[in-house]
Amino acid sequence: MEKKPYVLPQLGFGYKDLEPHISEAQLQLHHQKHHAAYVNGANAILETLDKNRLESIDGDAKALSKAFSFNAAGHLLHSLFWENLAPAAKTTPKPEGPMAKAIDSEFGSFERFKKEFSQAAVSAEGSGWATLVYCRQTNRPLLMQIEKHNTNVIPMFRVLLVLDVWEHAYYLDYKNERAKFVESFWNIVNWQEVNNRLEAILK
Ligand code: MN
Repeated sequence: MEKKPYVLPQLGFGYKDLEPHISEAQLQLHHQKHHAAYVNGANAILETLDKNRLESIDGDAKALSKAFSFNAAGHLLHSLFWENLAPAAKTTPKPEGPMAKAIDSEFGSFERFKKEFSQAAVSAEGSGWATLVYCRQTNRPLLMQIEKHNTNVIPMFRVLLVLDVWEHAYYLDYKNERAKFVESFWNIVNWQEVNNRLEAILK
């Protein structure tokens, strides 16, 4: 099998297309600088591991494995984040289909889900993510906070929807007002993508 580096994915929309909820400058910075840094960081660690093995060098296993999980999971989460966003004009304010049913069944109503997800997002300490996952042991969509990026993506929990609430995700547009960013986020959720993820899990 040919080894391949991680690659920064292209966005499925233009940098201006999420305005006014996320500005062109904010989105460009987040994608081209922050997300790219995780891609480059993960690749650099893989190169170090290759070199260490080739030259029989003992690396700092603790530092390397921790930095790898941070960068690789950061790359994965950002990739999922971009895909679960869509220009406001091209998406619906609420989910339809299986996701709508799953949310109603778990949370009672979409409004209740939105409130609980927003509270998870606003209350994440420092860097983190609000995440809707699907738990295959309980057959329930569940809310989680991910600290930093170090989720290590436990296979039982498949990600349906993520929101990045690290300051670099919103500070240019909203300064310290994270709650306003979270409120705006609901206008640009790509519910079709979220539905596709749920359908793939339930298949
Ligand atoms: Mn980010």
